[in-house]
Amino acid sequence: MNRIYLNKKIVPENKALVSVLDRGFLYGDGVYETLRAYKGKLFRPERHWQRLDHSLKSIYMQIPWSHAELTRACEKTVRANPHQECLVRLTISRGVGKVGYDPASCKKPTLVIFSLPVRNDMPELWRKGVSVAVAKVRRNHPLTLNPAIKCSNCLNGILAKIESLKSGAFEGIFFNLDGSLAEGTISNVFLIKNGVLKTPALDCGLLDGVTRSLVIEAAHNLKVPVRQTKIRGSEIYAADELFLTSTTMEILGVVAADKKKIGGGTPGPISQKLHAEVRQIIQRELKLPESFSTFS
Ligand code: PMP
Repeated sequence: MNRIYLNKKIVPENKALVSVLDRGFLYGDGVYETLRAYKGKLFRPERHWQRLDHSLKSIYMQIPWSHAELTRACEKTVRANPHQECLVRLTISRGVGKVGYDPASCKKPTLVIFSLPVRNDMPELWRKGVSVAVAKVRRNHPLTLNPAIKCSNCLNGILAKIESLKSGAFEGIFFNLDGSLAEGTISNVFLIKNGVLKTPALDCGLLDGVTRSLVIEAAHNLKVPVRQTKIRGSEIYAADELFLTSTTMEILGVVAADKKKIGGGTPGPISQKLHAEVRQIIQRELKLPESFSTFS
């Protein structure tokens, strides 16, 4: 049984219980981060804590834990479970207080961390690529619930995910209210056209992905020109290459969008070079064996 970190204790999953009056449950009043551990070592936890700080500040919430304590708690969770290639999901809710939106009576945030093995068909997905569908539902406007906040209210993404599953696609893609590309339900989106790497600028309304930054860093290393800009719908279908990025998927090629073939119908060569570079960065930083870079 999976072992879970709950408010300082590691407990079996069936003992990891939170109050029904917890505001995370009642209102989605909380934030989260998903990190990746490679061979049991967390990749760039500090970068996740910076984003966590931004999310917490945006929802007017403070926590009593330092970055170092959060890292140690995640490491402890990884060690408590057998899987070493895993994602580590850290959730902080505002905890229990008087029922009602006013959070003043909430004194103790709830901290839950669990780890899960990464799906073992990733190499196959990387090789073959996946399909996406553009969702009818649009990404929250940044002046409503800003998608830059990684918060526990994920319904916007869940609705798009349900739509994409109905159409048989692997991932749903959001447009914003202006009709330009925003992001995937759990990923950022990149395209390549005429050798230039393009991704929606942060002000298009999206999560500032840790992997998004990593891919931009890899592109700089490889001297691939990068443009963070507004991307129109038609540009997706006309892309030479299209890919998704996330902590758990790394770089995942998209071979069809709304059932239309993208590029050659297989993950493209620049996407694959970027993925290899990303893997080398991870391998060097975490001092993993060199064989790690040859992933496919
Ligand atoms: N956008 C959304 C909405 C996400 O949920 C995620 C996954 N955390 C991403 C983008 C990718 O972010 P990251 O690279 O930090 O995993």
